[in-house]
Amino acid sequence: MQFDDDKSLDPSQVEDVRASGPQRGGGGGGGFGRMLGGCMLPIGGRGGGCLLLVVAVAGLFLFGLVPTPFTGDESGPQGGGQQPSPPPQATGNLAERCKTGADADQSEDCRVVGTVNSIQSYWRQAFGDQKRRAYTPAKTVLFTRAVDTACGAADSAVGPFYCPADRKVYLDLTFFDTLQRDFGAEGGPFAQAYVIAHEYGHHVQNLLGTMNRVGRDHRPGAGSPSVRLELQADCYAGVWAQNAVKTGFYEEPFSQNDIDQALSAAAAVGDDSIQRRTQGRVTPDGFTHGTSAQRAKWFRTGYDSGDPQRCDTFSGAI
Ligand SMILES: [Zn+2]
Repeated sequence: MQFDDDKSLDPSQVEDVRASGPQRGGGGGGGFGRMLGGCMLPIGGRGGGCLLLVVAVAGLFLFGLVPTPFTGDESGPQGGGQQPSPPPQATGNLAERCKTGADADQSEDCRVVGTVNSIQSYWRQAFGDQKRRAYTPAKTVLFTRAVDTACGAADSAVGPFYCPADRKVYLDLTFFDTLQRDFGAEGGPFAQAYVIAHEYGHHVQNLLGTMNRVGRDHRPGAGSPSVRLELQADCYAGVWAQNAVKTGFYEEPFSQNDIDQALSAAAAVGDDSIQRRTQGRVTPDGFTHGTSAQRAKWFRTGYDSGDPQRCDTFSGAI
């Protein structure tokens, strides 16, 4: 993937709180290890204090949204982007460093900015074309170790996630090392783009009311509403990938190698792969995101069609 060198970036879509975010003692012990020790097992259980950590576990698997604050109304007081304790922003740095597509090719931070810009540019246009409603932009927050959100406090074990209550995507870039090292994904810039596009897929679901229709049933299981929601987010990521060049941020269509990076990442975080890796066997009752094959399939469905209408994961077989 190559950005158009001259394309102006909009760094205001990304907040960088890495230097100023909440720091918690002991948070540097490696999110993955903490996650395994802390809350891998209670999936499916409902230990009160563990709820967020359960979500955190799921988040690491690109669950990407937090069930607690669902209000049933996206226009409610939680939908306006207010944060309970907003950390000081350090966006000035990104604004200085990430001005054009050339910067996005040079630095990971700026590549996130460019990717977020392209994803939101696509959805703004797609909403205008097809949904007859406005797309409301969502910011991506870059954090390390820990962050306060309208969905509660989260630490790096959460991995990338979308908080519907403040309509923000939260991203600790170290997750991508984890994805490669512990999950066996190929890695690469487009794996990152896929993950970010998946999270914005949740934002689209929030805006379209899909999340509310799914409701509060977050029980896991093959074919569960949770899995269908996740697979749709994968499909939306593929739709963006197909349309990304039209947003003007990239020089040329993505290569097969790029797409392979996304498919590899999608497969790496499939429930069956993760379960095999972490518990040595596959238990479909615990699925939250879909199998590796399903995740890759739905990304590809979105990519091949370029049409969000083809992302109906809620009816029929998945
Ligand atoms: Zn997700």
